[in-house]
Formats: sequence, structure tokens, C-alpha cells
Amino acid sequence: KGERLYLGMDFGTSGARYALIDKQGTIHSEAKREYPRFMVTLLSSPEMDILKTFLKREESVDWARSWRETLFSLLNDVPVHVRSLVASISIDGTSATTMIVDRWMSILRLFTCPSGLYLFILILDNSSTGEPLWRPFLYNESCPDALPMVKAIAPENHTVCSETSTLCKLVSWWNIEDSNKESALLLHQADWLLWLLHGKLGVSDYNNALKVGYDPELEAYPPWLISQPYSQLLPCVTAPGTSIGYLKEEISKQFGFPNDCSVCTGTTDSIAAFLAARATQPGKAVTSLGSTLAIKLLSTNRIEDARFGVYSHRLDDKWLVGGASNTGGAVLKQLFTDEQLEKLSEQINPMQASPLDYYPLKAVGERFPVADPKMVPRLHPRPESDVEFLHGMLESIARIEGKAYSLLKDLGATQVEEVFTAGGGAKNEKWTKIRERVLGLPVSSATQTEAAYGAALLALKGAQPNMS
Ligand code: ADP
Repeated sequence: KGERLYLGMDFGTSGARYALIDKQGTIHSEAKREYPRFMVTLLSSPEMDILKTFLKREESVDWARSWRETLFSLLNDVPVHVRSLVASISIDGTSATTMIVDRWMSILRLFTCPSGLYLFILILDNSSTGEPLWRPFLYNESCPDALPMVKAIAPENHTVCSETSTLCKLVSWWNIEDSNKESALLLHQADWLLWLLHGKLGVSDYNNALKVGYDPELEAYPPWLISQPYSQLLPCVTAPGTSIGYLKEEISKQFGFPNDCSVCTGTTDSIAAFLAARATQPGKAVTSLGSTLAIKLLSTNRIEDARFGVYSHRLDDKWLVGGASNTGGAVLKQLFTDEQLEKLSEQINPMQASPLDYYPLKAVGERFPVADPKMVPRLHPRPESDVEFLHGMLESIARIEGKAYSLLKDLGATQVEEVFTAGGGAKNEKWTKIRERVLGLPVSSATQTEAAYGAALLALKGAQPNMS
């Protein structure tokens, strides 16, 4: 019998991946799937008419079904000969993707008798438990209607005070839906997918639950939230990477996973991506140079500042502090192709400081490290040489990154000591050198950046709780 393996799955914005690792972190297998697009099929019944009125928008994609199919496709993609070695599974999902599901085993069904009379029959039906009562609210969906109500109950500048927060989604649903309140339960995308595997309804982790208002420091929902009528929908919360139960017997039998394969709580996609970089000491940070510039720093203390969109996620006894700037690769992409970026970068002398002072933005407005919704992009003067122009942009983005780390320190976080890089900009060695000079810190690209890898590390943690 071979060495035990740990399976992590990432459910991102456009598709899902898995990574299968061993105890040392070596990848044994990985694969990727795009989400199939199923459309919501509407039956013709009075209940469905109510639903139809709400489904006018593009929400007719049946996301729950797409995710479920993808989950099982990925399990099927795991090579048959290693399945029996899988000791545990964990999943990350997009942050604030919210599902309202049925918590009861009973459903009220409406039947039409031949005589034309309606007959209500209460069916005890185990299969309906955990089924979505509503279409999922996606991570980036706004519920501005709920914001005033959320602001009225939450402390000022709390993470939930954002139109896309899980709490705004919950309150918005609570206000429109007048049936099923009693039997409803809130789950995040990762919780729901994990539930499909372990079958214990109503479990979440404190990373996913942050945006619904859970306080990971108190390890409880705060009193201002508990006193609301919809608090009955909130799931139980544990640390990410906690074993919840064994993989359902029918699934382990069907796919050939072992009987003792455990299913562990997950996290959000961006935290999973941070975990992948294995920056485990306070002061270690990951800068993500994708379309935007996002930084995450491991800190011994928690900091929050809604003005800058800065907040902290708990990671065991430490805090993962983060913020995202609107600058980043999107602006570079508007001006240069990836090939041009590579060619032009080759000619840059990274040891020499560029005198150009830009603030590259794709649109008006910045939040972090400067909170100014009216900030205008600054890309002038543009020198004749494209090499100089690009040098100026890369250097300016590096300065914004430096400012971002100093702001976190000013807000009380642990001082940054080393930066790992993820995203499309990580492969640019000249940029890495420029950033080392501007930040005055060692900068390197992260060996692992896939969120699925981070989720696999959580599965490993869950399988060996005493080792972490
Ligand atoms: P996303 O946030 O969209 O997932 P990626 O992590 O895939 O972004 O990174 C894509 C970005 O990386 C693009 O905006 C592109 O301009 C930028 N990029 C690609 N190649 C380079 C390069 N050699 N140097 C700097 N930036 C690059």
C-alpha cells in the first residue's frame, strides 16, 4: 500500500481544479474543469411562477448544478490507482458566494387532483435536505437594497457593510422571500460542496463566515447578529481544515476512495491561494500581480480598516491581513500584449530608478493604499521609448506595493520581511528586481500559487490535526 494522499479542490470564478499531494507537499496529480452551463429549468406550477418573476435576470444559469457536476467530474478525474490512497478532502470556494438551502427533511408539495382541487401533501423526503431553496448569490453580486439594514445593525466599517457581503445577500433574501424561512439554512459555496461529500448539513469555516459577520476572535457570531430573526439560518463554524466526517459511503464506494477518507472544512479561494505559497511565519507576505494588485501579509495581530478595504482573516493563531489596489496588470494589458511585456522588460535596467511617477489605474478611483474614489489614472508624461514607459509603470506599481505594505504596518500589522509573488506579473524577473530595490526586501515568485494546492494543505491539516 502506498503513501496516503490529500485532495484539495478549488472552485474559482470560471472553473474548478484539484490537486492531490502527499505529506511532503509533492503533487501527485492535478486537473482542471470549466463549469458546464446548465440553465434553470422551470416547471410550470404556481410555486415556479413566483420563482420565474425573480429569475428575469441572467441568473438563469443553474450554478448549483454546474458546481455539483464539476465536483463529481473532478472526483472522477482523480486517477483510479491513487484513489484508495486519499486520506482526506477539502474544498475552497469564492468568497461571499452564498447559498440558501433547505434544512428540513420534509417538503410541502402541491398536487393537483383530477377533480382540479389542490392537495397539499407533506412528504418526508431526505433527498430535499440541502437542496437550494434559491439560486446561489454569486461572489460579486451586489445587494444594495440590504445595505442600509446591515449598516443599521453592524458596527461602523464592519466587513459586512459592503453591498457584496454575505450578510447583505442574506438580508436581501430574507426581505424578498416570504415562504420557506423556517426551513432555510445559509451555506457558502465551499460548505455546500463539502456537504455533498460528508452529508452533515450546516457546517462552515471561519474564513468563509467572516463576511456574514462571524467573529473569528470570539469564535462566535456577535450579539448584534444573533439578535436578528435571520440568525437562525447561520451555519456552525469551525477552523478551516477541521475534519467533519467521513466521505459518504455511497461516494467512496462509487469512486473507490477508502472508507476512512475524511472530509475537512475549507476556506475561501484567495486564502487557499495564500496557503499554497506556504508563507507560514509572521512577516511573510504574498503579492498577487494579476489584473489588480493584491497583498496578503501574515501578522501576529488583527487589523481592520474599512476605509481602505483592509481586513484580517484568522489563520489558527495568526492573522492574514489583506488589501487590494486597483492598479495592476489590467492597465499593462490595455497598453501591451504579454509578448511585448516580455520583450520590453528584457531591455529594462532594474538597478536604475525610473524618474517617472505614475498611478496606473484602469478607471477612476482607488481604495488601497489610498482611499480616494475620485483618484484619476496618471500615466503622463509618456516618453518616446516604450522601454522607459514600461519601466516607469512597473516602478510606479512597485511604489504602490511598497506604500501598501507600509500602510498595513501603520495600521498595526507585523512588519513585512519577505514577499512571495503570484499572478501573471510573477514571471517578470526584471519587475521582481525592481520590486526588491523599491521594497528593500527579498522578493521571489511563489513555488505554488494554485488555490487547489492550498485546499490540499487544509486536507492534510485535517487528517493530521496534531501535526500543524
Ligand atoms: P487575473 O487577475 O486576471 O487572474 P493573471 O494572474 O492571469 O490575472 O495575470 C494577468 C496579468 O498579468 C495581465 O494583466 C498581464 O498584463 C500581466 N502580465 C502578463 N505577462 C506579464 C509580464 N511579463 N510582465 C508583467 N505583467 C505581465
